[in-house]
Amino acid sequence: MSNLIEVRNVSKSFGGVVANRDISLDVPEGRVTGLIGPNGSGKTTLFNSIVGYHPIDEGSIQFEGQEISDMMVPEIARLGMLRTFQQTRIYSKMDCVKNMLISLPHRTEGYSSMFKPYGAETMEKADRLLEFVGLYSKRHLISGDLSFGQQKLLEFAMALMNEPKVLLLDEPTAGINPTLINGLIDRLRRATTELGITLFVIEHNMPVVMNLADNVYCLANGRLLAHGTPDEVQNDERVINAYLGGHLEMEDH
Ligand code: ADP
Ligand code: MG
Repeated sequence: MSNLIEVRNVSKSFGGVVANRDISLDVPEGRVTGLIGPNGSGKTTLFNSIVGYHPIDEGSIQFEGQEISDMMVPEIARLGMLRTFQQTRIYSKMDCVKNMLISLPHRTEGYSSMFKPYGAETMEKADRLLEFVGLYSKRHLISGDLSFGQQKLLEFAMALMNEPKVLLLDEPTAGINPTLINGLIDRLRRATTELGITLFVIEHNMPVVMNLADNVYCLANGRLLAHGTPDEVQNDERVINAYLGGHLEMEDH
């Protein structure tokens, strides 16, 4: 099994705040890797560094063996790495299908392609992925009228439109009704097993991590605290202490 992403000794500060300190971790291909830790422990910062949103101060980040720490977001996206955000970023006045189509420029040669007519193959792909996330019957609804959970599913489907090799998800279940969370977890798992997409998931909710991830990294105060199977990490005393000392809820939000 090879690693799609290899992070080595990465540090990142904002002024006096050290958000990430000497972090090393691997994201193996075809697996779901979880990233947990209390609020402010540096999870989103690490994602931002990996996808090229900001430069790192020290260390190395490789994607498929290629150094990417000096690349910007669009370049890294074209290599096949995409992320979603804590807040959904959909076009709320457009219907689901249009959102799917408009998400495509990540993998093509710039935004001018947005104005070309879409081929039957692209339309079919949009429908197929909307079906995959359970939104096919709502594909012509204005996306702003969907529930928050459905908007998250749409955002997930939009990322899948670009056929990423790896998808970084920042708290995909945050703000979602607990009864819908299992459906979302099932879709995320199937993205790996059926579509072959590697996932790297920041998740606040411990039961979700237990269900979803094959292996888990835990950050605390910007440092890597623990790494192992979800079971190992959940029972790690250092992790439990970080949870108690931080703001991370073990059950839900
Ligand atoms: P998490 O996602 O684990 O909650 P973050 O990575 O968002 O943590 O934040 C880690 C630390 O870095 C926090 O102390 C936060 O205030 C700080 N931080 C994050 N982004 C910035 C920024 N753009 N400017 C200044 N400080 C930041
Ligand atoms: Mg965050």
